[in-house]
Amino acid sequence: MPHSHHSHSGQFCRHAKDNLEEVVQEAIRQGFQVYGLSEHAPRYRVEDLFPEEADLQPSDLLKIYLEFLSTAKSLKLKYASKIKLLISIETDYITEIDFIKTSKLLKNEIQNIDYIVGSVHHVNGISIDFNKLTFLKSIKYCKKNEQGRTMNPGPPPFLELDSESEEEIEDLKEEEIIIFLNNYFDQQFNLIYKFKPEIIGHFDLCLLWIPNFNFKKNKLIWEKIKRNLKKVIEYGGLFEANSASLRKGWNTSYPSKDILNLIVSLGGKICLSDDSHGISYVGLNYKKMRDYLVDQGVTEIWYLVSSVEDMQEGDEEIKNDRGKVFARKMVGWDKHPFWNDK
Ligand SMILES: [Zn+2]
Ligand SMILES: [Zn+2]
Repeated sequence: MPHSHHSHSGQFCRHAKDNLEEVVQEAIRQGFQVYGLSEHAPRYRVEDLFPEEADLQPSDLLKIYLEFLSTAKSLKLKYASKIKLLISIETDYITEIDFIKTSKLLKNEIQNIDYIVGSVHHVNGISIDFNKLTFLKSIKYCKKNEQGRTMNPGPPPFLELDSESEEEIEDLKEEEIIIFLNNYFDQQFNLIYKFKPEIIGHFDLCLLWIPNFNFKKNKLIWEKIKRNLKKVIEYGGLFEANSASLRKGWNTSYPSKDILNLIVSLGGKICLSDDSHGISYVGLNYKKMRDYLVDQGVTEIWYLVSSVEDMQEGDEEIKNDRGKVFARKMVGWDKHPFWNDK
């Protein structure tokens, strides 16, 4: 204790800051014992790049990810006496191409990748968290029942937007949001079903721009959430409590209250992540997240340990075809000295 299962660095991700080694040193300084390095998976189409990547080709993203793996591996050894670093990949599931190519990457790099953070950042082909305008575009394409794209491939590639005003979020109709949420949770189910990720990344990222939307009264959505949670619980995956939402203006971490409570009541395993994108994000808002989780009755948390180096009695298997990590329970987690100076 404590742990984080999800992080990025500016060395291998254009929307993050700082070198990976500096991020690791900061995690050590703060007293993290387990820290997951989970750089974003490469994306495979020009329309899936982001504006800051407009000078790159999708093949460059693959090269960058492979460089990340070799750097992470050497840091894991270099700092082994100070911190347990685990190496991961945060997925996307934009189209089937992501599933096919990422599966191939995982197969080739099985020696180097300890686990997957399974995240959905796109609905109907469009980024939902890049900004409010791409989110609005995604909602629009859901309503039209069409696949869209984040970027116009150009050349040169550029961000392709339909809306100009962020205020349109306030004018969204309930039924539009429901179609969007329906597609998000179906896409997430695909991801869960096919990859069986060890960690489910920010389960309700779909609510980023609409945190107060009351989806619980919609039976269809609530049932889909339950379906997704149960599938993860069935193979023993972990749901991350992710503190990044707090820096984005939420007053809870992901997942929001109703979903967190449902996970707990179904017996799901919660773990911790800071989703850091640079030194200043390491452990950011962790104390607030702890207070939220304690408030919601999260009495035990789980974390990943390497099945090769570190197994103990009581560790639980995650039933997928990788088997490189086990889940370990920690009771009394909120009393750990780590929190004293947070
Ligand atoms: Zn990121
Ligand atoms: Zn993410």
